[in-house]
Amino acid sequence: MKRRDFLRATAAGALAAPLLPNLLTDVAKAAEPTARWYKGNLHAHSQWSDGQDLPEVALAEYKKRGYNFFAFTEHNVLQQNDFKFDGKDAKPFDGETSRWKRLATPGVRSNLTEDRVRKAREFFGEDSVAMKETAEGTFVRLKPFTELNEQFGDKENFLLMPAFEMTTPWAHLNLINVEETFYLDDEKIGGVVSKSYDKAREMYDGAGKPWLFMVNHPLWQYYNEQPSDLIARPEVKFFEFTNNCTAYPFIPGAWTPESFWDVVNAYRASHDQDFLYGTGTDDSHGVYNTGFVAFYGWTGVRATELTPKAIFDAMNRGDSYISTGLELEDVTFDGKTLCVKAKPEKEGKWRVEFFGTKKDYDPTPKYFDAKAGPKMNRRIEGYSEKIGEKLATFDGTEGSYTLKSDDLYVRARVTRVGAEPVYLGTGADKSPLPTDAAWTQPYRG
Ligand SMILES: [Zn+2]
Ligand SMILES: [Zn+2]
Repeated sequence: MKRRDFLRATAAGALAAPLLPNLLTDVAKAAEPTARWYKGNLHAHSQWSDGQDLPEVALAEYKKRGYNFFAFTEHNVLQQNDFKFDGKDAKPFDGETSRWKRLATPGVRSNLTEDRVRKAREFFGEDSVAMKETAEGTFVRLKPFTELNEQFGDKENFLLMPAFEMTTPWAHLNLINVEETFYLDDEKIGGVVSKSYDKAREMYDGAGKPWLFMVNHPLWQYYNEQPSDLIARPEVKFFEFTNNCTAYPFIPGAWTPESFWDVVNAYRASHDQDFLYGTGTDDSHGVYNTGFVAFYGWTGVRATELTPKAIFDAMNRGDSYISTGLELEDVTFDGKTLCVKAKPEKEGKWRVEFFGTKKDYDPTPKYFDAKAGPKMNRRIEGYSEKIGEKLATFDGTEGSYTLKSDDLYVRARVTRVGAEPVYLGTGADKSPLPTDAAWTQPYRG
């Protein structure tokens, strides 16, 4: 059994304990005392880019809701100390640090308005927001990462990581726990992903810090990434499975977030490559905003401590799950059997389903010419429904599935029967993903 596919049984996970071979049970015992689930969001925006809140206001809300790790992923910018000024009259800012942004009247969604400053002052006091009057207007100082980290970072409970969202007209990619940005584009969408991965490796591998590369919202804005883009780059290990910006009417027969994932992993499993793991994020652009709903998507990670290394190591071996509101109590895999147990807060009827792909699957895509879509023509892929087919269903909050000899992999999903889709807007612009659900990563023998 591959090490990355082995999941430790937790104290609560007597569920699968008898199935574990002795050696692995001993390993599990050694790791047992400190491993726990951490909840995190690796995609969010503040006033540093096109988000609505001052960053400290957003952070206070995430922390209050029990998040343990978090990254602001501003568009093409890090929340640095470096002096920045977006007015013309720089004099009053001599010797100042960080970014100063002009106070604006309401209008554009992300304008820095008085209301948003007032919110921060309500939370942290009148003196908490620095402002300066200039001939150009009133400017507000945005707190940089180091100050936010001092204010909110907590070794045991809250890990804040520097990050940015490399934002091109085509692809969006998150670079987490990095201290330098880059930007590149390509005439092909998949080319941005591929070239950016190489660029990131070149820039960050030598920096001595663990970093994470994530392909964001493949559906947005209009099926921007195809499964074949991630089949072409087996080193890319993370994609954003759920994101509240993925609002677009779907093309019947084209890939969905779940089939996108299964298509890539069916290929990778049959070529002995690493899995593509999913993340859950909310891509919050404002915690009080009704247009982009915060707190709907997050990632649960089981790690022994709250450091970037421990969190990324756990994510890299698949010890994480995706949530749109449901917590998992335990996930175990002993090389054959995947067991999952959810811990719902809500009343309701729950269902556990297992999905996978058989070894004799047909990998041939069908193509949809998306001339009707905005911005550009592109070739959208659709695949056989046998990829990611349902293998088993259980009523209730727990279930298990033992891999058969013809299975490439298995993954589980827990849902509340009748749950609403993740809100994305109006009319047809809804996510195919339900709220109050959780997805395990894929596992194979
Ligand atoms: Zn984006
Ligand atoms: Zn974003």
